[in-house]
Amino acid sequence: MALLQISEPGQSAAPHQQRLAAGIDLGTTNSLVAAVRSGVVDTLPDGEGRHLLPSVVRFGAEGTVVGEAAKAAAAEDPLNTIASVKRLIGRGLADVERLGGRLPYKFVHTDAAVPRLRTRAGDFSPVEVSAEILRVLAARAESALGGTLSGVVITVPAYFDEAQRQATKDAARLAGLEVFRLLNEPTAAAVAYGLDRNADGIHAVYDLGGGTFDISILRLRRGVFEVLATGGDSALGGDDLDRTVARWIMERAGIEDDASHGILRRLLGDACAAKEALSTADRASLRIARPDGAHWAGELDRATFDALADPLITRTITACRRCLRDAGLRPDAVQELVMVGGSTRMPRVRERVGELFGATPLVELDPDRVVAIGAALQANILAGNRGDEDLLLLDVIPLSLGLETMGGLVEKIIPRNTTIPVARAQEFTTFKDGQTAMAVHVLQGERELVAHCRSLARFELRGIPPMVAGAARIRVSFEVDADGLLQVTATEQSSGVEAQVEVKPSHGLTDGEIESMLRDSMDRAGEDLAARRLRERRVEAERTLAALRAALAKDGEALLDAAERDRVEAALSWLETTAAGTDPEAIRTAVEALEKTCDFYVERRMNRSIRAAMAGHKIEEFE
Ligand code: ADP
Ligand code: MG
Repeated sequence: MALLQISEPGQSAAPHQQRLAAGIDLGTTNSLVAAVRSGVVDTLPDGEGRHLLPSVVRFGAEGTVVGEAAKAAAAEDPLNTIASVKRLIGRGLADVERLGGRLPYKFVHTDAAVPRLRTRAGDFSPVEVSAEILRVLAARAESALGGTLSGVVITVPAYFDEAQRQATKDAARLAGLEVFRLLNEPTAAAVAYGLDRNADGIHAVYDLGGGTFDISILRLRRGVFEVLATGGDSALGGDDLDRTVARWIMERAGIEDDASHGILRRLLGDACAAKEALSTADRASLRIARPDGAHWAGELDRATFDALADPLITRTITACRRCLRDAGLRPDAVQELVMVGGSTRMPRVRERVGELFGATPLVELDPDRVVAIGAALQANILAGNRGDEDLLLLDVIPLSLGLETMGGLVEKIIPRNTTIPVARAQEFTTFKDGQTAMAVHVLQGERELVAHCRSLARFELRGIPPMVAGAARIRVSFEVDADGLLQVTATEQSSGVEAQVEVKPSHGLTDGEIESMLRDSMDRAGEDLAARRLRERRVEAERTLAALRAALAKDGEALLDAAERDRVEAALSWLETTAAGTDPEAIRTAVEALEKTCDFYVERRMNRSIRAAMAGHKIEEFE
């Protein structure tokens, strides 16, 4: 796999001109900002010493509030208090409608592809809501550093697609920030632990947060990180354990669940507190107010809690194994295991994940801050504050990128899990004589047929000089930059005519969809292969038929007698009939039969065209 050199911006800055830069972990639940000050990297606290900024924005009667105060108002003012906006950013109407059922907000649908959230202060897009969070973090950094930020590095989940990355950049621009680079969260965590200074090797980053789980396998080679594979579950995290513990409490206390789960919800706070306490204590005592007014007191010990947590941990282990398989590695290939996310404070998680990889998990850094710290280190380098030191961070594309070809098939140009930045090109040609335009349809997904992949963009290459079918050489190149954005360019080689498109789809895929697209492609591999073979045969048949019909129209009368014409036409209509069927082998046999029948005709045509070419020339010119 070829690695491309990335030229980093800002490396020419003079050593004494330190440019201010910050790393931002824009999280689903909490966000953080970190910076390098006097050579030391750390997250930056607010005026009250709090490092974590809850990713919650409240559009209140007296203006916009972000963070702790907004979070506190969520229960009383849910419609105007937006939490977890990261789940919505870069997503289209369909995605949001699916997620929307679980969210308390009011969505307004405009003719723009992006839905907006209705609040008392107006309608806001997820990009605008995210920009509010970024503004607060940037202001915190600027007051701590005493100047204007020259730029920031913002982290995103490794599975974020084009639209989600672009939307994150848009939010930064809206907040008045220059984005040096978007950085994948696992890569940032590895950088925070200084793994980039280690010897070459394979590392795993296990990130278990409140509502999401991500696993990434990284490879360090000559100071360069590649993300070999990513996996996880966007609906798995510490919140699930809170519910499990709450149910356990209800069972013990003899409390019946109600239809709306109102009782369960009320117990979540107690359950979460017990869970977190058990990361350091052996037992947690509980005192619960029952619906009938009585109290229940009990105790949850570590062993019981571990047993409750085990099924959830097993799900993460299964995802880890799948990710390893994607990377083509065995668990023992992993050298360092980085733990990220609040839920990795649980001893049972550390134990079981460490067991799987046969490694002692790295837990010295605060699992909440590790991503922001890595982003800050990278921002400092990109701002040009580290002389000629250049850290190259390579990520992967989560789904294959390709083009539609004849017969509704997908030709993959860049396979999934290829490291980025990457550029790949392939040549195509025209299908018809005199064809002057070509449609380019860019697709994402693992399946063989266009109908089963996701359409990213379409454009046309026009102004191709008229040539016979198959003579034009059209080079289509795919370039994915370091932020994961795709640009597709089509160039006709002889004339140099060119067309291109930057792919900014209006909505994104959920990682659940990515998962299910991958699963589909594995389940259907056999079926797809048969479908591909059939379509290829049909394309071949159509090409043969078109060429023969064109020839017959031109010189069929002149070169063939009636009996010969009947014979050719019988073979032609036999192929037409077969090609309408579904047996690829039969189509191939019919194509071969037609070609054989027409051998003599092709020969006559060739002789005739040679004679035509020679006409008017003296015979000695050819000797
Ligand atoms: P996210 O990535 O979703 O923003 P975080 O990484 O901040 O989430 O993790 C939040 C989760 O971590 C919550 O479910 C919280 O209960 C859990 N958590 C925090 N501290 C502990 C602890 N000491 N023990 C167990 N779980 C914890
Ligand atoms: Mg997180």
